[in-house]
Amino acid sequence: MNISLSSDFADAVPEMAVSWEAVPADGPELLALNEPLAKELGLDPAWLRADGLPFLVSGRGVAQAYAGHQFGGYSPRLGDGRALLLGELTDSDGRLRDLHLKGSGRTPFARGGDGLAAVGPMLREYVISEAMHALGIPTTRALAVVSTGHVVQREEPLAGAVLARVAASHLRVGSFQYARNTGDKELLRRLADHAIARHYPGSSHLELFAHVVAAQAELVARWMLVGFIHGVMNTDNMTISGETIDYGPCAFMEAYDPTTKYSSIDERGRYAFGNQPIVAEWNLARLAEALLPLFAENEDEAVELALATLRTFEGHFEEAWIGGMRAKLGVSGDVKPLLTDLLALMHENHVDFTSFFHLLGKAARGDAEPARSLFLDLAGIDAWLARWRELGPDAAVMDRVNPVYVPRNHLVEEALAAGADGDMGPFDRLLKAVTSPYGERPGLEYFADPAPRDFSATYRTYCGT
Ligand code: AMP
Ligand code: MG
Repeated sequence: MNISLSSDFADAVPEMAVSWEAVPADGPELLALNEPLAKELGLDPAWLRADGLPFLVSGRGVAQAYAGHQFGGYSPRLGDGRALLLGELTDSDGRLRDLHLKGSGRTPFARGGDGLAAVGPMLREYVISEAMHALGIPTTRALAVVSTGHVVQREEPLAGAVLARVAASHLRVGSFQYARNTGDKELLRRLADHAIARHYPGSSHLELFAHVVAAQAELVARWMLVGFIHGVMNTDNMTISGETIDYGPCAFMEAYDPTTKYSSIDERGRYAFGNQPIVAEWNLARLAEALLPLFAENEDEAVELALATLRTFEGHFEEAWIGGMRAKLGVSGDVKPLLTDLLALMHENHVDFTSFFHLLGKAARGDAEPARSLFLDLAGIDAWLARWRELGPDAAVMDRVNPVYVPRNHLVEEALAAGADGDMGPFDRLLKAVTSPYGERPGLEYFADPAPRDFSATYRTYCGT
């Protein structure tokens, strides 16, 4: 089989693409292959498992340059330190998709890093991104994880792996910060025109910004509707396409608490659950700064235009969040007071986010006991349920949006630990549960239940390095 990749990004902005080759794998072994995605891309899964395996783990591509604010501090030169864009290919719907390798060796952007990735973090990205896709949330996709035979030195020696990732593109807020920082306005314009052609055809530069604001506002709302915490919302981890990218220390919240953070590196909770809209807006302000010279010749005028567009973030976010919550509650109309009171009750009673909304569907069908039993304050939840019932909730609507199975932290950890030991069984079973997240299936109770208390109290995720 012959695969023809294009080089649209490298052709459009060669200044931001360093031609580079992946380190050869010693003994590549396929750990996970996404057959439906392979077919969508016109790739034969049988071929990928055999002669095509090198294609998922090696080859020549480009390391992409980008900058970024990490935890608020600006780095003018980050870039793909351990990843390569192999090129773009056209999928069966005629859409251009990036094919990218992560963990493929040091590049000129590697700084102190070893350019490698361990099996665990790459399997984490695989299962969580595929779960997000199944939840209908825009995301980069995982095509495969291949163990390389390399030893990766972390706190202990670990087996190395490469993730083959597919994305609408890998253009980030940080890509624009990099272009702006060069002082070359013509490069900035070419990058913006490339992004427009790829994602928002026909738009002006200001409309490009407006589209990204809307896409990111909706994305963050949709994360929060399923309790997702990205964990490291640096500007280099925020896409122009509106897809979720870079699953490092991310996690699904269990007991509802807006201050929840799981990332061990996020000491001050900058990227905690409830901060995510504010952080997204902050990141978009950085994108506006980068794009400013393209909005208007006069700087004051450009700033005015940028601010007016940035102000649309809140409306887009509210619309997606409230609209999504209406569906989760199965009701229409003004749900704000009802929602505020529910979230306060859930917070006080440490109620599992996913379980509650799932069990509320049963309450809409007349069996309120499972949902109510999650609360200690029974009078409080009974009063709330009575108000909610008066609005005539529609259980069918609720069941379509409230997942039963999400990649809970303890299940992910268990699957990754087994995978690192060469047993892919738990990973495969978890993947099966979370890629069909709606509707209870017999025998899968284990995947619906919250973590044991002693697990949740101490759980932290580490950056995907
Ligand atoms: P991340 O936090 O994964 O989004 O990565 C932030 C930056 O660090 C990016 O420029 C990465 O390419 C780089 N990076 C992360 N891990 C490594 C590594 N092991 N080797 C080289 N570069 C890395
Ligand atoms: Mg990143």
